[in-house]
Amino acid sequence: MNINQNYLNLSDSYLFSRIAKRVREYSESNPNKSVIKLGIGDVTKPLVPAVISAMQKAVLEMGNAATFKGYGEEQGYLFLREAVCGYYSKKGVTLDENEVFISDGAKSDLGNILGLFSNDNTVLIPNPVYPVYVDTNIMSGRNVVYINGNEENGFLPLPDKNVKADIIYLCSPNNPTGAVYNNEQLKVWVDYALENNAVILYDAAYEIFIRQETDNVTAQTSNLKPSSIYQIDGAKECAFEFCSLSKTAGFTGTRCGYTVIPRAIVRGNTSLNSLWLRRQTTKFNGVPYIVQRGAEAVFSDEGMAQIKGDIAYYLENARMIAACLRELDVWFTGGEDSPYIWLKCFNNMSSWEFFDDLLNRFGIVGTPGAGFGACGEGYFRLSAFGERANVSEAMARLKKI
Ligand SMILES: *Cc1c(COP(=O)(O)O)cnc(C)c1O
Repeated sequence: MNINQNYLNLSDSYLFSRIAKRVREYSESNPNKSVIKLGIGDVTKPLVPAVISAMQKAVLEMGNAATFKGYGEEQGYLFLREAVCGYYSKKGVTLDENEVFISDGAKSDLGNILGLFSNDNTVLIPNPVYPVYVDTNIMSGRNVVYINGNEENGFLPLPDKNVKADIIYLCSPNNPTGAVYNNEQLKVWVDYALENNAVILYDAAYEIFIRQETDNVTAQTSNLKPSSIYQIDGAKECAFEFCSLSKTAGFTGTRCGYTVIPRAIVRGNTSLNSLWLRRQTTKFNGVPYIVQRGAEAVFSDEGMAQIKGDIAYYLENARMIAACLRELDVWFTGGEDSPYIWLKCFNNMSSWEFFDDLLNRFGIVGTPGAGFGACGEGYFRLSAFGERANVSEAMARLKKI
């Protein structure tokens, strides 16, 4: 037996254990000081009532021989795929139910999708980035090229025509930067992908945080921010879209997401939609019926109204953090259509120096930007997934600088 040597090329992920260790040490030496955690990338609001009652009903169905469900369709129950298509139609995007695959979350699909692509493809990944994109490609030994986010491009890099890539990752609204591409910028990426015969893996895990004026926007105006890449002409020929109920409906522990692969994405004579269906029917046995009923309820009018209440709560936290930073004259991205705020460390400190400074002087915990890639050095991520009172207290402490 020989191991997959590519695993040895992964760098250890010390980020969150290192944060936890420093917070522990601080609390031990400052037992009377309260620590406010603005570092979490997990939601704090519980599942909404519409989801709970749908899942309770489904539990009872599972206990009755007449309504019991065994194996379901690997790509997900039709009732949920139809609900997802209904959600897209409100965004002005028409999808066929067969273009939607129900998953146990975006992370697994983002990793597993790579099985469809040859290992000799070149992968283009923005930096800083959600670490899953980089690590899953290192595991399969692919060549990764980075495209840099920075202050000049507002952490929204655009393609370099001289770089040829086959697989492109985009995440908007972005984790960690909170930055969101507008229509015009995303169109540049779609055109680049089409010219290069590349595919875009579009991570839309935070799409619901984009505030739309109305529910029925077909994004045409260039500065509008699309909540689906399919609102951009040509995207159905080159983009996969990965969505998740984790951040949108508090499903981080319940596990459900959906991936869209349009049938119009064909390379050679092969439809990538058929390849993924073949993969799923071989390696996946679907998401629990009970969870899929809960997910269906997210897309009901009642469920949508309830989750939008929670999203508005997180967004108000983000707005408060952004307002405070503006007052302190700190450069940042995000905080508007995203639960994340990405700020430039005060006094040109490094990410970890700033982490220690924020903890020691203010008792505030955030996430050092350097943990998301080399271009994150000197920056810092704050998250709005917390309690309102804690966010207020943290901002009051910062204003006392
Ligand atoms: C949280 C998150 C996801 C969602 O992952 P799940 O597996 O669905 O919980 C996907 N992408 C990004 C960038 C995230 O931050």
